[in-house]
Amino acid sequence: MLLPTPATGPDAAVEWVRTHLGDLCCDEPAASPAFRGGQQAADTALATLDLAGYAARRNEVLPRSRRGATRLSPFIRYGLIDLPTAWAAASGAPPRDRTKFRDELQWQEYARHLYARLGHRMATALRAAPARPARSWDEPWPATMNCVATTVEELETDGWLVNQTRMWMSSQWTVRAGAEWTAGEDRFFTHLLDGSRAANRLGWQWTIGAGTGKPYGFSRWQVQKRAPQLCQDCALSDDCPIQDWPDDPPPGGSPPGSPLLRGDPDPEATGGPREPQRHGEPGAVWLTAESLGDADPALSAHPGLPVVFVFDEPLLARLNLAGKRLVFLAETLADLARRRDVEVRRGRVREELAGRAVAVTHAPVPGFRTRSAAVGPVEVHPWPWLHRPHAGPAGSYSAWRNALRARA
Ligand SMILES: Cc1cc2nc3c(=O)[nH]c(=O)nc-3n(C[C@H](O)[C@H](O)[C@H](O)COP(=O)(O)OP(=O)(O)OC[C@H]3O[C@@H](n4cnc5c(N)ncnc54)[C@H](O)[C@@H]3O)c2cc1C
Repeated sequence: MLLPTPATGPDAAVEWVRTHLGDLCCDEPAASPAFRGGQQAADTALATLDLAGYAARRNEVLPRSRRGATRLSPFIRYGLIDLPTAWAAASGAPPRDRTKFRDELQWQEYARHLYARLGHRMATALRAAPARPARSWDEPWPATMNCVATTVEELETDGWLVNQTRMWMSSQWTVRAGAEWTAGEDRFFTHLLDGSRAANRLGWQWTIGAGTGKPYGFSRWQVQKRAPQLCQDCALSDDCPIQDWPDDPPPGGSPPGSPLLRGDPDPEATGGPREPQRHGEPGAVWLTAESLGDADPALSAHPGLPVVFVFDEPLLARLNLAGKRLVFLAETLADLARRRDVEVRRGRVREELAGRAVAVTHAPVPGFRTRSAAVGPVEVHPWPWLHRPHAGPAGSYSAWRNALRARA
């Protein structure tokens, strides 16, 4: 189904989502007060990037003025800033901050490599059973805990959290309260503007010990260090349920590790094409949610072609995302429509693009493989990797990075 192209501005985007996609959202659509979607917003974020003090302050939570995190993640998630561009933007930063920032970008790349290699297997514990207490809590994120309630509110309102509170919340959910981690991961995914299965699943697996065997324990100590006012204002201040470190979890056994963690028999398939693959003359550029930036390789290869984007109805009906995620996308498409002829559709991707000769950029996610196979693009452009996926071990970040270095 052809939809009108959204007009610019957050109010227009909210109204557009309400009218055309409201039935697919889990809430009444609203715009995040913290982020605007679109290339223009991404360019401004990059142009004003100041990494001085990043390494020391990246983990700060409150007051907000102390935070050192860059807030680039929603733009990186949708390819409005690709990783090589973010990497280059750090070149003039103080050495310690530059190294720390680039290390974080490599975590994003690691998450993408893992997801491209393992696909849906990332939804199950990779290397160890998740750490859980002997007795589960009734409520994994109790509203009576100020640290939890304040973070949930930020997640649901802004659609974004600093890394530190993501670790608190995931550890609280599973390591403290014993709840099933994929349900918590879904709660994050519903709201996070940067929500990606690659980074979100890796983050959860890492925190709850499923990715490493060493869980991250959440206790009052971290809150007092990173956001002391949350403890001062908490009704449970004299009866804090996370006063001490969590007990060592009872042994849970190890899940069978995937052989794909030890090596990739087909890194070429994992990485996608190295050069554009052409089988015909495209009449349009098909953009996917993985790559919506002006620098998208297929888009920039065809400056004169119209652009088509499909809101994947069955997928969105299943995901039932918070409206602000779709508002961010609508703002992004509206911004692009200032420079390009943009056609927005809703339905099954295969049906919406039937009979169209499209050029597209390879996306390293399982959903792209199935949709691309059904659509049959006449031109596929390479994904802009920071590092091309290798065949070596990827069971831990350091093993993955060592294999990268060995190849260099
Ligand atoms: C439980 C949990 C869930 C997470 N879910 C997501 C998610 O859905 N999407 C997502 O992009 N990140 C996720 N992260 C990683 C990280 O928390 C966010 O990328 C970061 O907080 C975004 O804020 P920023 O842009 O200010 O990051 P900065 O600290 O400024 O880092 C710069 C960029 O590096 C990348 N990055 C930083 N830390 C990580 C990391 N640990 N893993 C992967 N990439 C990283 C991001 O692209 C980020 O924009 C998750 C982490 C945890 C612990």
